[in-house]
Amino acid sequence: MSDEKTMSPLVAVIGAGPAGLYAAQSLARQGIQVVLFNRDIKFGGLAEYGIFPTKHKMRLGLLAHFSRILKMPQVHYVGNVLVGKTGDITLDKLRQVGFKAFMVTTGAQKNKWLGLPGEDLDGVYQAHEIVFDYNLLPKYTRINFDIGRNIAVIGVGNVMLDIMHYLKLEEIEREVTAYARRGPAEVKFDKETLEPVADCLDLDFIKREVETAQPQAASVDDDVNIFYEILEKAREKAEDCHSGLTVRMAFLRSPRRMIGDKGGRVKAIVFEKNTLDKQGDSVISQGTGEFETVPVDTVIFSIGSQVDASFGLPINHGSFVTSPDPRFPVEEISYEVYNPDLCTQCEDIFVSGWARQAGEGVVGLARKDAEMGAKAVMAYLATLDSLESVPAEAAINALGLDEQKVIRLADLQKLKEEENRIAEQRGLAEFKFESNEAMMKVIKGN
Ligand SMILES: Cc1cc2nc3c(=O)[nH]c(=O)nc-3n(C[C@H](O)[C@H](O)[C@H](O)COP(=O)(O)OP(=O)(O)OC[C@H]3O[C@@H](n4cnc5c(N)ncnc54)[C@H](O)[C@@H]3O)c2cc1C
Repeated sequence: MSDEKTMSPLVAVIGAGPAGLYAAQSLARQGIQVVLFNRDIKFGGLAEYGIFPTKHKMRLGLLAHFSRILKMPQVHYVGNVLVGKTGDITLDKLRQVGFKAFMVTTGAQKNKWLGLPGEDLDGVYQAHEIVFDYNLLPKYTRINFDIGRNIAVIGVGNVMLDIMHYLKLEEIEREVTAYARRGPAEVKFDKETLEPVADCLDLDFIKREVETAQPQAASVDDDVNIFYEILEKAREKAEDCHSGLTVRMAFLRSPRRMIGDKGGRVKAIVFEKNTLDKQGDSVISQGTGEFETVPVDTVIFSIGSQVDASFGLPINHGSFVTSPDPRFPVEEISYEVYNPDLCTQCEDIFVSGWARQAGEGVVGLARKDAEMGAKAVMAYLATLDSLESVPAEAAINALGLDEQKVIRLADLQKLKEEENRIAEQRGLAEFKFESNEAMMKVIKGN
């Protein structure tokens, strides 16, 4: 490693999704040298591989801004590298080569399951994996999602509606019912995400469901009109549904098991009907012991995601645990990793974005969280005796990473030029390579 030193402290940001990129921007603006490590070849996280593909303007606007962040002289991109206990590099190794602090912005990479019998049957899928497939995240493009015509989606959030939107664009005759364990006032989606499928809603079915749920909703002071308002607003521009998709919603049902046919494919799902109860400010569902078996050929779980335990930091409720007694709180929020049992050196590790609150909010919230997290990192750095650091490129070299594998900013520019060229040639709004191999061939020529 070079003996050269600088007074600009060196910080590793791990994960180049929205949170990581905005954290890098914030730190770089305050004179910090930032190395942004990313698992994927491309930066952007869910802005690249989650946001619905037809939202071109939003996605491309975000990605253009992220490109500008990566061009800041204080920011150094190292892609196609997994950081963590079981990854290509550990936090200890990063400490050894001179990093002074860590901002972990790895998002929520693992699916949530309920542990029900039949989750392993053919035709039972995770919504996020279908999202990654249609957004061409390498690895998921190789999975064959055999989606049938009679589908139950578990969960009533925005991701459920993105799945409905995707199914609508396939223009196949299908009936899809989204199931909520609680009542209509507790749905987690917004009108903007409902709009693209609002023309395909089976309003008679949904109305009957709402009327059935109404007494339970009233018993916990839930106002079902909130749900009707979202529906009506989303339907303002709706025309007739020409795609063959029928969208239904059912309430007060919790899935209990899936039943398979002789070939191992799901053929039915068993729900338990629920009542509602209030615990403090929260409305909770409780099983009634009354069951209902619904014939289906596909079940899609859309109940959120959680952080990846293999990273090696402690987890609680699906997110990395932060200190209940932070040294550097920002607006009373703790960004400091906390692990009294396992971690003797946690004081230099910070988390933000979906790594801190799995599945919580949109890009705007990830940005705010990352900027606040960066403030906590700055407050920590201010307590160090010496801020003297090695230059970022010297630290990266000292890691001894495989040059044939690692992706730097110039590689991404080469890849983008080729993707743009193909898009133009084929008259597409956007073209994306579907595998790491195809991307590496363009970048490294092998
Ligand atoms: C299906 C879906 C649709 C959405 N649609 C919208 C929308 O329309 N509008 C909107 O504003 N928001 C939308 N969101 C929310 C938005 O995508 C998130 O708020 C935001 O992406 C969270 O940012 P993040 O950086 O915390 O996590 P992520 O975006 O998940 O980024 C995490 C990054 O960390 C990297 N990483 C993971 N593990 C490691 C590791 N061990 N080492 C190195 N790197 C690692 C990943 O490769 C990734 O680049 C959507 C989310 C989903 C799931």
